[in-house]
Amino acid sequence: MDFRRRFVVEPGSKVHLDKVDPGYKGKDLSHKDALPEIAKQVARMDRLQYLLYADGDQSLLVVLQALDAGGKDGVVRHLFSGMNPQGTIAVGFKQPSSLEATHDFLWRAHQHAPAKGQVVIFNRSHYEDVLVVRVHKLAPKSVWSGRYELINDFEKMLHANGTRILKFFLHISPEEQLARFKRRLDDPARHWKISESDYSERELWPKYIEAFEEAMEKTSISHAPWFVIPANRKWFRNLAISTIVADTMDEMGLKLPPTRVDLGDIRAKYHAAEQKPGIPGWKATD
Ligand code: AMP
Ligand code: MG
Repeated sequence: MDFRRRFVVEPGSKVHLDKVDPGYKGKDLSHKDALPEIAKQVARMDRLQYLLYADGDQSLLVVLQALDAGGKDGVVRHLFSGMNPQGTIAVGFKQPSSLEATHDFLWRAHQHAPAKGQVVIFNRSHYEDVLVVRVHKLAPKSVWSGRYELINDFEKMLHANGTRILKFFLHISPEEQLARFKRRLDDPARHWKISESDYSERELWPKYIEAFEEAMEKTSISHAPWFVIPANRKWFRNLAISTIVADTMDEMGLKLPPTRVDLGDIRAKYHAAEQKPGIPGWKATD
């Protein structure tokens, strides 16, 4: 399956999340069948991230958004299973600090945008400023409605500087959210994930969906596309996202940088050192 074509929000198209099955898992695909395929994608990401880091000329920004218990933390863990922590950073966006709140809404996102050679994963992002801010009326409509264009300009600028941007909405059903809330309640190791606002936020589900649909319609552009990922099944979600990430990195033309030294000269130095493996003036004690 071409996951990118299957799940991308085509620029300029309408988004109807009620028409997307959160339980979708591909035709005839089982978790067991998918395991070797997931391992293959993880290995591809690993190789490509090594090249991205070595190449040092481009970068990748992955944006994760979802309703509560949508699986953002799980995707971060999955992506990291295929990437070296050297060159990879995950950034979580919470309620703005008092310092952040005194700046424009893109300020904190810009500070964490990837440097050349880096992969950065945003766990929540600048999109909260057209999601939670809209749903909870934290800013008037006249303010948040102007932000789509500002976001597009911001992402265009990052893209012009060599950053590829992939944005994922993890789509779960309300039933799956409740099942995950129950798992959190039943498992003391997950109690820390429970928040006072889980159930009041859940009641705002239709308002969040409306906000997500408009955000994706207005900000899915060819160089920074949104993908709606069916996410009730964690293995399918992971397979889809790692395939999309690897396919995208594959197209970035990543290559090892040219050697900066005269290899003949360095080989000669190596052979000379091999003749005298010890270092004058240093003796190991054992
Ligand atoms: P969590 O991801 O569960 O740790 O929760 C982080 C919380 O911060 C969520 O409730 C977000 O909606 C909230 N949040 C993130 N960004 C913003 C923002 N720009 N304005 C207000 N709340 C935000
Ligand atoms: Mg939460």
